[in-house]
Amino acid sequence: MSNHPKEEKTLVLIKPDGIQRALLGEILHRFERKGLKIIGLKMLRLDDVLTKAHYGKYEDKPFFAGLKDFMQSSPIVAVVLCGVNAVKVTRLIVGQTKSYEAIPGTIRGDFAMSMQSNLVHASDPEENPAEEVKRFFEDDELFSYKKINFDLLHAPDELK
Ligand code: ADP
Repeated sequence: MSNHPKEEKTLVLIKPDGIQRALLGEILHRFERKGLKIIGLKMLRLDDVLTKAHYGKYEDKPFFAGLKDFMQSSPIVAVVLCGVNAVKVTRLIVGQTKSYEAIPGTIRGDFAMSMQSNLVHASDPEENPAEEVKRFFEDDELFSYKKINFDLLHAPDELK
């Protein structure tokens, strides 16, 4: 069995602060417990090309140099999550960019204090999640499968 047609894909990056602060398991656990399915997972170090592709829209901002240094300061973990409404649900679990304003219960609200070092990237629905997934994963690095809890997570009507 493969991914359901109603399931979306979204890209998550566990940033260097998440790796260094030993929060990788905690962060992945939160997505898994919600009911999101991991269909791609890898550790990598961002080079200049990938950093520019991902954060190039901020290249002229005063914080870009610091953001680039931070994002390249240790390996990151890239994850593709899949699920019904996965893009929106993932952003809600992550919380607001300014971690000091993020609501408790979100990843940033529970574990972060900073705007730059905010633990996680999650695709913005406005910024083409499919393109972000392609930036980090080849098609053959992604998996299509049905999780055994899928029919418990969604009422049949919600899947039409
Ligand atoms: P989000 O990651 O919540 O989608 P943005 O797309 O606005 O947020 O910004 C991308 C990332 O760039 C943020 O997560 C943060 O790490 C960094 N960033 C954005 N704005 C600032 C800023 N003013 N100062 C430092 N870092 C910033």
